[in-house]
Amino acid sequence: MSQSTTGLAASVGIDVPTGMLINGEWAGSDSTIPVIDPATEEAIAWIANGTPDDAIAAVAAAHQALPAWAATPPRQRAEILRRTYALMVERSEAIARLMVLENGKALRDARGEVLYAAEFFRWYAEEAVRMEGALTTAPAGTNRIMVLRQPVGVSVLVTPWNFPAAMATRKIGPALAAGCTVVLKPAKETPLTAFAIADLMREAGLPAGVVNVVCTATAGPVVSAMLADPRVRKLSFTGSTEVGRVLLRTAADTVTNCSMELGGNAPFLVFEDADIDAAVEGALVAKMRNGGEACTAANRFYVHERVADEFTSAFAARLAKLSVGPGLADGTDLGPLVNEDTRSKVASLVSEAAGAGGRVVTGGQAPDRRGYFYLPTVLTDVPADAAILATEIFGPVAPVVRFSGEADAIHWANDTEYGLVSYLYTADLRRALRVSEALETGMVGINRGLVSDPAAPFGGVKQSGLGREGGHDGLLEFTESKYIAVDW
Ligand code: NAD
Repeated sequence: MSQSTTGLAASVGIDVPTGMLINGEWAGSDSTIPVIDPATEEAIAWIANGTPDDAIAAVAAAHQALPAWAATPPRQRAEILRRTYALMVERSEAIARLMVLENGKALRDARGEVLYAAEFFRWYAEEAVRMEGALTTAPAGTNRIMVLRQPVGVSVLVTPWNFPAAMATRKIGPALAAGCTVVLKPAKETPLTAFAIADLMREAGLPAGVVNVVCTATAGPVVSAMLADPRVRKLSFTGSTEVGRVLLRTAADTVTNCSMELGGNAPFLVFEDADIDAAVEGALVAKMRNGGEACTAANRFYVHERVADEFTSAFAARLAKLSVGPGLADGTDLGPLVNEDTRSKVASLVSEAAGAGGRVVTGGQAPDRRGYFYLPTVLTDVPADAAILATEIFGPVAPVVRFSGEADAIHWANDTEYGLVSYLYTADLRRALRVSEALETGMVGINRGLVSDPAAPFGGVKQSGLGREGGHDGLLEFTESKYIAVDW
């Protein structure tokens, strides 16, 4: 079957490729995969289903393009990134609408994501010309120690469906700024946004082979084939901890450099001295941005017993007012979840918590309509050992647990294998900083429900990942140090 996007270009306003981008050309394939609109459960496009051979062809193209791209003056590389940024902003409405159709998120979230995603091109356009090395005298005085930063080489980028634009640009931007060439493997649920961005890069003047894109229904064999190829020197993965572990094992065979952005289980702490209105606003952002389908989503709310009732009822009242519907419909705050598996996982976590003594304050069910919707939900009196507190919910559900002392709050917050981000609300600066230091996460939001920023080092500790994306750190992930001992 041939790839098609019947009607899609007309409804979003840009042409959307559906093939594989290999060496600057969009190629078709023998078999195709449907892309499903989660609001209607219907296919909106059929895309090329890449094979391991296609992936290796993409690796060959990236390898061939590498020497010239690495030697391209940083200013020229920066200009292409900057032009892509401008094009992405210009086409932001079309890309946002496309993203809603394949992912389901509310248009407001999609608009926010496109601009956030574009910022990675702007930020790394600025970073491309700031690759610093070092020159020192050896302590013995015998020679100089010179350190260069060189591009790590051909990089395989594997991205999830929840932020189809930002997870791709957060990798492509720094990789290209550092002088690497890439093969992007987007999630099969949301490939079209990635294809549209790759096409913009071509329009911005990117040479053939620098960015290649292959999507597939069989991610395991396709990514393994690339990792087994000695021309591939880097894997940058964003996705679940479960798949991250598998890929780290696979990458061990070729000792491939890995950056891993994995799952989260963010605690959201509200102390008794917090501004409760501000905490509710922050909780809405931390929980409901992207409908809860975010690695940074607040997953567990620990609220001091003195303010727990006030916080819970105000938060539940706000969630109950959110408008649930197709992402493109006017006024929608919350779209559907990405697919039925995600919705049934959310539903079963809620029923298990309710069965174990948790009380549903609002929501707690799927609305009676077509599409993978689930109502915004607040649960209280959740037992400390409930699965919902230990599992990444990835949906619009907020379990609330009371605490009475700071030490308990910190202990529970850290009682997880994950360590991506935590949030805390308090008016006491000393407590805010003391607790931030004690929290075992790569990022902390103090009196703020949003931490993501292209200029900041994003990433987790423990089983939430290895390495950082964004900021200057994100650029260094795509480089190797070369030490040269010089005697002059
Ligand atoms: P996932 O792990 O199922 O898939 C992620 C990517 O890996 C997709 O492209 C998928 O096709 C691919 N994949 C799946 N199995 C594979 C295999 N065996 N070999 C190679 N590739 C494989 O994750 P998801 O469901 O798409 O995304 C949700 C997860 O991503 C959540 O756990 C979320 O926390 C995490 N995430 C983390 C961050 C972060 O920055 N830390 C950001 C966004 C999402």
